[in-house]
Amino acid sequence: MSWKDHLREGIPELTALRLFDYETAGPELARLDCNELAFAPTADEMETFVQALRGVAINRYPDVSGLPLREALATRWRVEPDEILLGSGSVETLAMLMTAFGAGGQSAPARVIFPDPSFPYYEVVSRSHGLQAVPVPLDASFQLDEARIAQTIDRERPALAIFASPNNPTGNRFDPEALERLARRMDAAFVVDEAYADFDGRTMLSRFRATPGLFVMRSLSKIGLAGLRLGALVGTRDAIAQIDKVRLPWNVSAIAIALGCAALACPDFIERRIRTVVDLRHALEAALCRVPGLVVYPSDANFLLVRVPADASEVAGRLVRRGVLVKDVSRPGLLERCLRITVGTSLENERCVSALGDYLEVLRDTSIVRRRGGAT
Ligand SMILES: *Cc1c(COP(=O)(O)O)cnc(C)c1O
Repeated sequence: MSWKDHLREGIPELTALRLFDYETAGPELARLDCNELAFAPTADEMETFVQALRGVAINRYPDVSGLPLREALATRWRVEPDEILLGSGSVETLAMLMTAFGAGGQSAPARVIFPDPSFPYYEVVSRSHGLQAVPVPLDASFQLDEARIAQTIDRERPALAIFASPNNPTGNRFDPEALERLARRMDAAFVVDEAYADFDGRTMLSRFRATPGLFVMRSLSKIGLAGLRLGALVGTRDAIAQIDKVRLPWNVSAIAIALGCAALACPDFIERRIRTVVDLRHALEAALCRVPGLVVYPSDANFLLVRVPADASEVAGRLVRRGVLVKDVSRPGLLERCLRITVGTSLENERCVSALGDYLEVLRDTSIVRRRGGAT
């Protein structure tokens, strides 16, 4: 026996998350790979954050459940502070859900359903908590196949469902009525991950009180605060109280609480940037649509999914050499030859479009040359 034999089943097969090494690429790199916000705080806003930091007692534990921040978020989302559970990023609340709902029966692990394609982390977190992941394919236009999901729910009796709306990496939102019907059918924990809902403007936050088991997951990562690691789970007071028991105390730091509150108190810090990102997304989408050979999918989020007429990893590699980093999400099936491009600054978006256009043009020319070469 070695210590490794005691690892939970499935863990040796997992791989730890490793992202691009930004340091080696230099400061000019356009980071369009992680769906972050491209705009740092202005000098004035930074002054507000510095002031907020001055008030932080780092020798003390913060409020054990981040009450000041829950109050600020409750106002923003029009819910009660007791209906909010904070996480160090929303993925931490996902881990809490898995801990709380992951017991399963005597003989079988609990099951988690989520659509495919969606956020790869759902499967990773499920497996690392000993739950069985049950992906359910989306249809060819990346929408819910409601009948198929309903069948899967009836057959697998999952303890947990997670649907990102808008979905990552496809960018589209799902029909809230269909999600609510599925939540009712499931009658277990049904999570709608609204990490991108700020860009869509629509939310299921008004529905959780009337839909048993419905939770809404929210994140501050995509709207300018990825570095603070702040996310939340919203649900009924009773449901949140249960999951709160598995939350590690003080899981959100005093600094994150203070700066999160400061950001939410700046009337324009978040809202203005959301509007800018949506405007820039429209411009980027229009520009990408003009590149011959690209298929650009409609997006309700802060990124665009595009299908390239070539090997996606090859295209992504060329783009990096031109100083533009995008996410290669290509794999066999619905995401074949697909790249996910975060909306950046207008300059970054232009650099991305022109690098992509140039490379595809070279490809077209060489393939014509090749075809001519083959004919003679
Ligand atoms: C980015 C993202 C999140 C955010 O995770 P955080 O832990 O809040 O940073 C959650 N869900 C999806 C689908 C995402 O793409």
